[in-house]
Amino acid sequence: MTDEEIVDVIIVGAGISGLYAAYRIRQIAPELKILVLEAKDRVGGRTLTADLKTSHDGNETDRFDLGGQWVTDTQENITTLLEELQLETYMQYHTGKSISELHRRVQKYGLPVPFVSLLSFLETIYSVFRLESLVSNVPPWNPMMTRNADYLDQHTLADLMKPWIRNSATPLLTAAVRTVFGCEPEQVNALFALTYAQAGGGFMRLSLTDPGCAQEKKIKGGSQQVSQLLVERIGKEQVRLETPVQKIVQNDDGLYDFNFV
Ligand SMILES: Cc1cc2nc3c(=O)[nH]c(=O)nc-3n(C[C@H](O)[C@H](O)[C@H](O)COP(=O)(O)OP(=O)(O)OC[C@H]3O[C@@H](n4cnc5c(N)ncnc54)[C@H](O)[C@@H]3O)c2cc1C
Repeated sequence: MTDEEIVDVIIVGAGISGLYAAYRIRQIAPELKILVLEAKDRVGGRTLTADLKTSHDGNETDRFDLGGQWVTDTQENITTLLEELQLETYMQYHTGKSISELHRRVQKYGLPVPFVSLLSFLETIYSVFRLESLVSNVPPWNPMMTRNADYLDQHTLADLMKPWIRNSATPLLTAAVRTVFGCEPEQVNALFALTYAQAGGGFMRLSLTDPGCAQEKKIKGGSQQVSQLLVERIGKEQVRLETPVQKIVQNDDGLYDFNFV
């Protein structure tokens, strides 16, 4: 885009959200000129599918998703999009025993949760029950309407759970939080976590592989294809990589100026 060039729509970020927005705008109003600006040298954002070596000699490789990867039929928007893009899914393999590392102890287990002491188990069940009950009170369309929203918004998930547990349940819950949010309970805002869980049908559904749960299915060939195929539908020339947006200014005439490198 030169200094003089004007486009109708600029979208910042070529992750699934930005590219899907561009794709939908193109469907609804094909006459509009759209530009997607992406800071990185690739599309996909927090989805990344990489070819990794699977043999010691390095001759064999396979495709692995390193970011977002699971879908389920209750996630209707992504399910519809996968159909539109003709991407197939397969069931997450979960037959047999699972493996966990808690308290630096590795164990194999056949139950839904690893073997822990009775106290840990009871504290975990109690904490999950308390969390699910808070989740059910969050209106996902307006989380600030939640009871005690200000308190929740000023605290972390770790703060929220602290009064319910005496440390013995912490490793199990921490492992669950790491799996769902990719960070520590101390790093995630309590209101965000509850809202996220509400949108996903509750904490249990977010962490299981059962039908309708968040880790039920994977995308054949990897999840980054969603973004790559969206780029094909939008048009490659509409997506500019290695273009970090640094500043957005709205002029008096209502137009927006985008400053990027
Ligand atoms: C390890 C991991 C596992 C996950 N597992 C799952 C899962 O199994 N199922 C699931 O549904 N979700 C999962 N998620 C979450 C899912 O990946 C994200 O919710 C989703 O990819 C977010 O898409 P997005 O387009 O909203 O944001 P992003 O993917 O973050 O895209 C934002 C894009 O904007 C770009 N950008 C940011 N600032 C600028 C700027 N100033 N200028 C230009 N570009 C900019 C970024 O580089 C990025 O490419 C997982 C996430 C992670 C990290």
